[in-house]
Amino acid sequence: MLNATTAEIVERKALRVNAAKTCQPIGAMYASLGIHGCMPHSHGSQGCCSYHRSHLTRHFKEPVVATTSSFTEGASVFGGLANLTQALRNIFTIYNPDIVAVHTTCLSEVIGDDIPTIVKRATEEGVVPEGKIVIHANTPSFVGSHITGFSNMVSAIIKYLSEKSSPKEQINIIPGFVEPADMREIKRLANLMGVANVLLPDTSGVLDGGLDGTYEMFPKGGTTLPEIRSTGDSQATIGLGHFTGHPGALTLETKHNVPATLLELPIGVGATDAFIQTLRAFSKDGAVAAQIETDRARLIDAISDMQQYFHQKRVAVAGDPDQVIAHTQFLLELGMKPVYVITGSLGNHFEKRLHELLDPVVPEAKIKQQSDFFELHQWIKNEPVDLIVSNTYGKYIARVEDIPLVRVGFPILDRVGHRFFPTVGYTGALRLIDMITSALFDKKDRSCAEEWFELVM
Ligand code: SF4
Repeated sequence: MLNATTAEIVERKALRVNAAKTCQPIGAMYASLGIHGCMPHSHGSQGCCSYHRSHLTRHFKEPVVATTSSFTEGASVFGGLANLTQALRNIFTIYNPDIVAVHTTCLSEVIGDDIPTIVKRATEEGVVPEGKIVIHANTPSFVGSHITGFSNMVSAIIKYLSEKSSPKEQINIIPGFVEPADMREIKRLANLMGVANVLLPDTSGVLDGGLDGTYEMFPKGGTTLPEIRSTGDSQATIGLGHFTGHPGALTLETKHNVPATLLELPIGVGATDAFIQTLRAFSKDGAVAAQIETDRARLIDAISDMQQYFHQKRVAVAGDPDQVIAHTQFLLELGMKPVYVITGSLGNHFEKRLHELLDPVVPEAKIKQQSDFFELHQWIKNEPVDLIVSNTYGKYIARVEDIPLVRVGFPILDRVGHRFFPTVGYTGALRLIDMITSALFDKKDRSCAEEWFELVM
C-alpha cells in the first residue's frame, strides 16, 4: 500500500514513480488486433512480447495472440535479420495469417534493425508467401507511450495498405484507443445515422468475442483488408481523439486527400453531440435517428436528476490523454470540479486543451503531462478529492485515502465490464453516471454516521 507517501512534494525531473502510462508496443499490438486475419509480431526479446501480451490479456480477459522474434545475445549483437526471417517463416507455416504487423521494441530500435529491408529480403527469398502481407511500425519505448504506439501502428496500416481507386459513399472513422465495446457503439451510432463507414482499427468481435465451441485462430471481427484498402476512396475521415485518432486521419488526408474532421472522444453530451453533428453531414437526409434522440434525452434526464450528488465535487482524473480530456469535459457537464488532471504521456496539446476547459471554471486546477500516480497522491494528501477517475492503478490511492474510484481507460485489470459496456456515446455516458453515483453512494454507506445511513438515496 501507499501509506508511506509523503505530503511534502520534491521536484523530480528524472524519476517517475507509479507511472501513468506503459510502453509503445502494447498500443501497437492492440491496434494490430483490430485488423482481421492479422498476427501482431514483436521484433525483440520474448520478455517484451510476454509482458505486452499478458498486460492486454489481463485487461481484456481474453488470450491475446502475438508472436516474437525471440532475440537472444546473438541477435542483440549482430541484429535481428535472421530472427525475423525465421519468425516469418514459422508464422506463415504454422498460423497462416493474411497480414503480419511487425512492431519494434527498445532493443531492436537500439540495434537499428531496418525492418523494410529485412522484409523485402524475406519476400525475395519466398519466406512471405504470395498474397500475404507484412507491414511494420517503429515503436521504440524509450520515447512515447502505448498511446504513441497505437497511433504509430494505425498510421503504418494506412501508409502500407490504403488505396485510391474510385470514390465511395462511405466515411472512415479512426476511433482512438478505446474499448471493443466503444468501437461497437461508435459503429452503432454511425449505422443508426445511415452512414456507411469503415472503422479502423476495430477490435469489437476480436477481444469481446463469444464462446461457441469452435476455436478460430483469427476471430471474425477486425477491419478487413478490402475495407482498409477502400479508405483512400472514402468521402472523409473522422478522427476521434487528438493523440490516438487524429494522426491516422491526417495520414489519410496526406496520402489520399481524404478530408479529416478532428474531434475528441465522444464521451459525454457535448463531445457526442459533435460526433453526431459530423455524421449528419454524411447521412442522406441530415436527420438525427429517433433512437439517438431518445438515448440523448434519457442521458439529460439522468444528469438533471442526479445533479445534487455531483455539484462541485472535487475530482482527480488520471490516465491516457484522450480519455482524460474527454472525461474532464464530461465531469464539467455534470457540475463536478476536476481539480487534479494528469497523464503519464507527453504532448503539449494535453495541457493546452485542459487549460481551455478548466481555466474559466476551475482556475485552481493542477494540470500536468508526464506526471505519475505518486505526484497525484501527494497533491491529494495536501488537499483531498471526493472522487478519483482513472485506470486500475488509482486503486492504491483510493484505498489508502478512502476515496471512491471510478475505473476508466487502460488498463483495467481488476474489473470485467469495461470491454462489454461502452463509455462513449449517450448510452456510455449513462453508464458513467451509474458508475460515479454508485461509487459516491458506496462511500457514504460505509462511512457516514448512523443517523445519515439511508435506505433510499
Ligand atoms: S519498455 Fe522496451 S524493453 Fe521494456 S517491455 Fe517495453 S519494449 Fe520491451
